[in-house]
Amino acid sequence: MHCRTGFIALVALNLGMAACAAPCAEAGHLYPKSRTIDFLLAECANRGITITDWHLHIRGGMTPEMAVTREKASGILSSAMENHGREWDIFDNARLVAFADAARKANPRMPVGIQVNDRDWFRQIDAATRARFDYILADTMIMGRLPDGRDRRLWLIKDISDIGDPEEWMEMYMAHNLRILDEPISILANPTYLPKPLYHLYDRLWTDARMKAVISKAVARGIAIEIQAESPFPSPRFLRMAKAMGAKFSFGTNNFNPAPKDLTRWLDAIMWLDLHGEDIWKPMQKAPCVASAVPSAEGKGCRPVNGRTRQGEQ
Ligand SMILES: [Zn+2]
Repeated sequence: MHCRTGFIALVALNLGMAACAAPCAEAGHLYPKSRTIDFLLAECANRGITITDWHLHIRGGMTPEMAVTREKASGILSSAMENHGREWDIFDNARLVAFADAARKANPRMPVGIQVNDRDWFRQIDAATRARFDYILADTMIMGRLPDGRDRRLWLIKDISDIGDPEEWMEMYMAHNLRILDEPISILANPTYLPKPLYHLYDRLWTDARMKAVISKAVARGIAIEIQAESPFPSPRFLRMAKAMGAKFSFGTNNFNPAPKDLTRWLDAIMWLDLHGEDIWKPMQKAPCVASAVPSAEGKGCRPVNGRTRQGEQ
C-alpha cells in the first residue's frame, strides 16, 4: 500500500511522524511511541548528550532513506553502516565506495561507517576509500578458522566441545581482543561478548584484570565502548569500571532489519553510569578540506560530522 499524498502526509507531519515518500510499510522502521524513548530523549537533553545510533546496519531491508526518516521522526540521530570482509557482501573497495555513495545520497550529513570483520582490513581498504567513511566499528565475535577455512563466527558456537578448556580459550580470546584494539578502529562493539556455552562463566572468565586491560587500551587509543540495545554485553561491572577509567561511550542497535530495537539498555546505562555529554564518544573531526582531502560523493568536499550537535537535527 502506498501513502496518499496531501492530507495523510500533513497529518503524519503534525503528529511528529515522517511522511511516507515511499511505501507505508516502511513505517515499521520507526520507533513506536514509548515511555522509554520519551525518558531517553529527556535524559539526553538534560545531560547534554547527543544520542546517535552508531551501529545501524543497512541490511535486511533497512535502507539509508529509512535511517534518515527514523532520525527525523525520533530525534535519535542515525548513521549508516555495513559489514566489510572477505565473507561478506561488501568485500572490496568498489563495493565500499558504492555503499558510501548511496548513504551520502540519502543524507550527506549522516555519518557513514564500516564494521570490519577481517583482521587485515586496514591493508585491504585503500586510503581513498577509507577517507569516505566517518568511523570504523569492530567487535570481537569472529576468531579463528573452521576446518573448512571459513571464519569462526563465535555466535554460532553451540557446544562447549567446540571451545575446549574455557580458561585456555579465554587467554586466546583476550589476545584477540587486545589485537583488535591495536587496529585503527573507532568503536569496540559488544565488548566482553562471550559465546553462549561460556556465558554462565562470564564473571569467572572476565576478571577485573582482564576488563581493565581492555578498557585501558580503549581509553589510551580513543576507542569508544559500545552500549548495545538488547545485549547483555558488556556487564554493568565492566561499564562502571570503564566510566571510572575515563572511557567514552557510544550507542548502537546492531539491527538485522528495519525493525527498531528496544532501547531500554541505552537508558539504563545512562542512568547507572550517570553519563553526560562529555562521556559520549564523538568521531574525530574530519580533516579540513585541504588539497589531499577526498571529496564527498556530491563533490562538495569534507563533511563536518561534529557539526551535528543538536538533537533531531537532520
Ligand atoms: Zn554489527
